Amino acid sequence: MVTPVEEFHPQLDNARGLLLEAARHLDVHPSIIEQLGSPKESMTARLMVRMDDNTERSFTAWRCRYDDTKGPTKGGIRFHPDASLDEVETLAFRMMCKCAVMNLPFGGGKGAVRVDPRTLSRAELERLSRAYVRAFYPLMGPDRDIPAPDVNTNASVMGWMVDEYSALAGKPQPAFITGKPIALGGSLGRSDATARGGFHVVKNLEKELNLADCDKTVCIQGFGNAGQHMATFLHNDGYKIVGLSDSRGAVYCADGIDAYEAVRVKHETGMVSALAGMNGIQTMDPDDLIAADCCLLVPAALEEMINKDNAHRVKAKVILELANGPVTPKADKILEDNGVIVVPDILANAGGVTVSYFEWVQNLQMFYWELDEIHTRLKAIMDRESRAIWELAKATKTSMRTSAYIHALRRLNDAIEAGGTQGHDDSR
Ligand code: NAD
Repeated sequence: MVTPVEEFHPQLDNARGLLLEAARHLDVHPSIIEQLGSPKESMTARLMVRMDDNTERSFTAWRCRYDDTKGPTKGGIRFHPDASLDEVETLAFRMMCKCAVMNLPFGGGKGAVRVDPRTLSRAELERLSRAYVRAFYPLMGPDRDIPAPDVNTNASVMGWMVDEYSALAGKPQPAFITGKPIALGGSLGRSDATARGGFHVVKNLEKELNLADCDKTVCIQGFGNAGQHMATFLHNDGYKIVGLSDSRGAVYCADGIDAYEAVRVKHETGMVSALAGMNGIQTMDPDDLIAADCCLLVPAALEEMINKDNAHRVKAKVILELANGPVTPKADKILEDNGVIVVPDILANAGGVTVSYFEWVQNLQMFYWELDEIHTRLKAIMDRESRAIWELAKATKTSMRTSAYIHALRRLNDAIEAGGTQGHDDSR
């Protein structure tokens, strides 16, 4: 059922470029760049799933374990109609770098199913989720590869997956997956961890990013888990949310949008554009959101939303990448030339994997922490690493993206070197 596949990877080529740029600032042996430049193992599977009308449909699915030098691979599973192996491997590469940036004992992994989940019933979605675990069972495990939620997957999906994995293993295996329901061993504080981590970065570097003395206006692209929590954290801190978008539309209001009202309307109607008409809120073309007047732009949707065709339109002073890979390399260059600071994804959204790490530790220990402890530990790690990356950017006169990759590569390099080199020759 499981077969290796295709060799076309423009997204991964872009990601490798970041590694090479970081390597220019470090003394790294070429064999280490060789190792980190391609995934350790990727698998494709065809999932046959029974539909409610008793027909069978096939879905293409992937799992990538990019590199496990620093520990078991870790990364989410995405359900999306445009998913591809290239995207999965690139996201797994980013997870490797993100875990290194946070100094977590994990390598990078990722998975996906090519599916539009909105076309499936809940029972069909559950059967698909279980089929995924059965197909990739040999690759995954609490000390091998630990999945988590990503775009269009959530705690319920993780619940079905851990149930299936435990049934196959013949014993409860809560540490197999993170982002689970609390009732199945999920951690307190996981649901808002990605946004909370991004918020800590903003607060920690507010002065350095020149956000302390701007008018604190914010636009958020994508209003799902990450975007909604970010909106409420910023709102509570006195920031003014002026623009919001989702896959179905966008709204703008120069006087500010109440974040709690926006979350309520999104939950009730499924679209932010239903806010239009309330308190002076107007609809706008979603393509114009990134060009709206604001201090802080938070992409929290999908990859490559800010690219060479629209980067010159960005008016924000700072972009906080809550999504994975929302700014392309060409857009990065345009933004840098225009003085826009980009806080890179591997720092900005690393709060999610950090609390996933806490969840895994609690599952292994069978001892569960209070919410305060999770919040305190998350803040300490986010503050430590955001400060380190900012200082490194100053010292190396590089962008925050390059300094984050230097920071990650240094740790990966140290781990690979510490393990010696003679065991890595597959031709032995
Ligand atoms: P989600 O599925 O809950 O939300 C995604 C949102 O993006 C939805 O509101 C959707 O309508 C919107 N969207 C889709 N296409 C859009 C478009 N063209 N324009 C505007 N909005 C669009 O997903 P999420 O968990 O919030 O993840 C969002 C991003 O954050 C992804 O890149 C994900 O990889 C990244 N991320 C999430 C987590 C996490 O813990 N949730 C952790 C790290 C990174």
